[in-house]
Amino acid sequence: MPPPGARLNFDLLVPPRGVPLKAVDATLPELTLPELRRYGRHLTLPEVGEAGQRRLKAGRVLVVGAGGLGSPLALYLAAAGVGTVGIVDFDAVEESNLQRQIAHGSSAIGRSKLGSIAGRLRDLNPHVEVVLHETYLDRTNARAIIRAYDVIVDGTDNFATRYLVNDACVLERKPNVYGSILRFEGQASVFDARHGPCYRCLFPEPPPPGVVPNCAEAGVLGVLPGVIGSIQATEAIKLLLGTGDTLLGRLLLYDALEMRFREMRLRKDPKCPICGDAPTIRELVDYEELCGVKRADAATAISAPELAGRLARGEDVLVVDVREPHELAISSLAGALHMPLATVPQRAHELPLSRMLVLMCHRGSRSQKALEMLSALGFTQLRNLSGGIDAWSREVDPKVPRY
Ligand SMILES: [Zn+2]
Repeated sequence: MPPPGARLNFDLLVPPRGVPLKAVDATLPELTLPELRRYGRHLTLPEVGEAGQRRLKAGRVLVVGAGGLGSPLALYLAAAGVGTVGIVDFDAVEESNLQRQIAHGSSAIGRSKLGSIAGRLRDLNPHVEVVLHETYLDRTNARAIIRAYDVIVDGTDNFATRYLVNDACVLERKPNVYGSILRFEGQASVFDARHGPCYRCLFPEPPPPGVVPNCAEAGVLGVLPGVIGSIQATEAIKLLLGTGDTLLGRLLLYDALEMRFREMRLRKDPKCPICGDAPTIRELVDYEELCGVKRADAATAISAPELAGRLARGEDVLVVDVREPHELAISSLAGALHMPLATVPQRAHELPLSRMLVLMCHRGSRSQKALEMLSALGFTQLRNLSGGIDAWSREVDPKVPRY
């Protein structure tokens, strides 16, 4: 057995296709009798065998996000016998998560996602160490957390964290197994700036805020993260095994409606701002600022408690709710005018120019778009309710149901 804390160096584990596994390295942890029984179907595979299973046991994989992608990811990595599975998340389980986040159950609603998933993983495979990072990954902690792992798997759903994970992986010289999902479509790839492209080689800068909707706004087929997360788990396991042909240099595109996989070749961009020949990014930056999360809010934002105060004082404020009818059936604010986002351009004439308009949606992103539309039409007294009706429920009136 290796001494505690001794780790494999997986630095060069993206071999050309067909490179056979090296003989069992004496420093790899040995398999116990229960492990030999449990992993029998792996041990039978010549491409895994005892050597490969011992490599998995020595491996450390970090899963960023315990949601839709993180659920199948963490479950399959733990089931496969990856010795250390780390998970970063800070959210609580909500009822609307359960349509796709299958690691959690109804009994976990309101509990932390990490607490929920940890119990399931330890029950699934008590031989693996589950490490919980209950924190919001940001520029101050990302490199230190990532440094302790061999492979990073990105299961996030927002651009700020995706760029953060990419940059931290490039700077820490780690492979980044990427996946993303929206509506019926998913993507996956393996980024590793030492051997191929990184995410910024594809997309040097994030899109302007509001251009690409997130799953909460645009919807996502519940089974989709199961497909993409399982592909990511496969790639992470292959990286640890050092076998097979990974998605390095390829972007896999999946369309669930047409049931079609396509593939794009990716090349490292010599002008990439972080992994190119003359990189301009040498340290982590402020990713919320980079992605316009703060900028979009700053000037016109109103917090839920501030809106509550204005309404209580009888100020002349009209709340305009731009959500869809099925959302209104779940929760609404008394006195709000309902105008779904898509109808705002046609119905803007119904709105008074003289009153302050507070735009509201589920979490504040669609209402920001409505604000921009109305601003372009000449409205000046506009505010966006930060965090939407979700923030109202959390910060003002818990009787308003969350979803
Ligand atoms: Zn790059």
